Amino acid sequence: MNDRKRRVDKQKIGYFHLNILHWFKNKGRHFPWRNKSASNYEKIISEVLLQRTKAGTAARFYPGFINKYPSWSKLAEATEEELKEALTPIGLQKQRAKRVFALAREMKKRRGRFPNDREEIESIPMFGQYITNAIMLLVYGKPFPLLDVNMSRVLERFFGPREMSDIRYDPYLQDLAYKIVNLPQPQQINWAILDFAALVCRARAPLCKACPINSRCKYYKVNERKKRD
Ligand code: SF4
Repeated sequence: MNDRKRRVDKQKIGYFHLNILHWFKNKGRHFPWRNKSASNYEKIISEVLLQRTKAGTAARFYPGFINKYPSWSKLAEATEEELKEALTPIGLQKQRAKRVFALAREMKKRRGRFPNDREEIESIPMFGQYITNAIMLLVYGKPFPLLDVNMSRVLERFFGPREMSDIRYDPYLQDLAYKIVNLPQPQQINWAILDFAALVCRARAPLCKACPINSRCKYYKVNERKKRD
């Protein structure tokens, strides 16, 4: 990869921050797992529920699940089969139950305390890059990106596309995502991008004309040019 070619303009990052955070202040969504009172358990479980699932679907399912399994220890009492059944209403129950089951076992062993070393967290089976980043961000308040298909869509459209198919290994996208969330309030910018991805920069039919960052968006410029040609 040519680093020079892929270097991202700092001013463009500043423009992105300013406008996305302003948009989020007025249009951001509210979810129970974002409340100040949410426990670390609730924050991390919600991330498992949100993976490849619409936030609205997860939000409707979340209260019942938290009510039934209010802590790591309660969750650790359930079998994988029980969890699979409990998770069926939001889909992906097989893989989600596997992950929740592994998380619960591990957290029971650790008496509810996450390690604070990134490599140690990532080495725990079933945690993976996304959950590790979620723990670093939501439990420890560190500037780690919740980089999934939605965040990557916004970043790629605005700043330019990745070079590898797997988000986890794309050096350009990873570097960009870390730069983007490197702010004093990293949770806010992560949530802002995820909400923006769901409500404006949607996978299908993005609302480009009304988008607050369209004047510097690569995707918008290319598409506008195509329409003129
Ligand atoms: S202009 Fe369109 S593609 Fe670009 S960030 Fe806004 S909604 Fe997304």
